[in-house]
Amino acid sequence: MVFYRSCPKCRGDMHIRKDVYGDFRECIQCGLLQDLSERPASQLVGSGTSSDDASTTSSGGKGKKGKAA
Ligand SMILES: [Zn+2]
Repeated sequence: MVFYRSCPKCRGDMHIRKDVYGDFRECIQCGLLQDLSERPASQLVGSGTSSDDASTTSSGGKGKKGKAA
């Protein structure tokens, strides 16, 4: 499947390709890649990072309490 003059960069022809990440379009002229579907894996990584950040913040609050000396 080819999309004629579909490349936003060089107005070249793009065609559908597929790899482990899913479907994407590749420009035949300049090699530009465009994702066709969202990748759930990247969303999981993002949520995991934010959760880790929150735990670090709460741990900092605990340190403040320890002024019993
Ligand atoms: Zn192109």
